[in-house]
Amino acid sequence: MTVALTSIKISTDFDSGNIQVLDAHDAYQLLLAIKPDTRSHHFQWFHFKAEGMHVGHTHTFRLSNAGKSSYRHAWSGYNAVASYDHINWFRVPTRFDGEILHISLETRERHAWFAYFEPYSRERHDWLIDQALNRAGTQLLATGKSVEGRDIQLLRRGKGGEGRRNIWIIAQQHPGEHMAEWFMEGIIERLQQDGDAELKKLLKVADLYLVPNMNPDGAFHGHLRTNAMGQDLNRAWQSASQETSPEVLFVPTTDGKVRC
Ligand SMILES: [Zn+2]
Repeated sequence: MTVALTSIKISTDFDSGNIQVLDAHDAYQLLLAIKPDTRSHHFQWFHFKAEGMHVGHTHTFRLSNAGKSSYRHAWSGYNAVASYDHINWFRVPTRFDGEILHISLETRERHAWFAYFEPYSRERHDWLIDQALNRAGTQLLATGKSVEGRDIQLLRRGKGGEGRRNIWIIAQQHPGEHMAEWFMEGIIERLQQDGDAELKKLLKVADLYLVPNMNPDGAFHGHLRTNAMGQDLNRAWQSASQETSPEVLFVPTTDGKVRC
């Protein structure tokens, strides 16, 4: 086999980017690794852009440390996602050999993005908050700050008050769970259905408290589980501190326990 010397550029310098290049000699078989979360051994989320691919050829991106990731069983039967425009994502052939995850794309373009799941961007988050406030009847109860100063919005649908049920829905406490904010987008869409009898029944007795993204720093840095201080927020509820987990101190719940 002839090895095509690579001119492929891999980049991660964007919202939720994560990968490192180990060996990019061979343009068709690149060797990469997922970077662990800051001050943590956890890793799983990846998101990178490849430029300079050869149209009509198959390029394979090998994630060398997949077998040592936090949830190695997640790779069995798994297919990575890719996109040519960072908007429309599709599944690509993926094989896990017990150690390395091999992601292949017979490319139609010279560049493409690859990710663990379809990323939920900070830009879309801002749009979602706008939808929630202007179309879904929620109000902004408070805005907290992450370690790095990013906004954490707490929304409420309903007026609050004695005798009402409080339903809390918190997404992306583990920042690599981008699918959770896609779920939140579904809730915010549903809240716009005025004729929805089931929703009406629920809102008669309950208020919804929504935190669409509880760990914006972790999401931005392409982490799987931790915030910018290396804290797993879902394990910090009993010992939250302003210095290491202000995100948890900001989001109070009735019983102080949220687990997933
Ligand atoms: Zn989780």
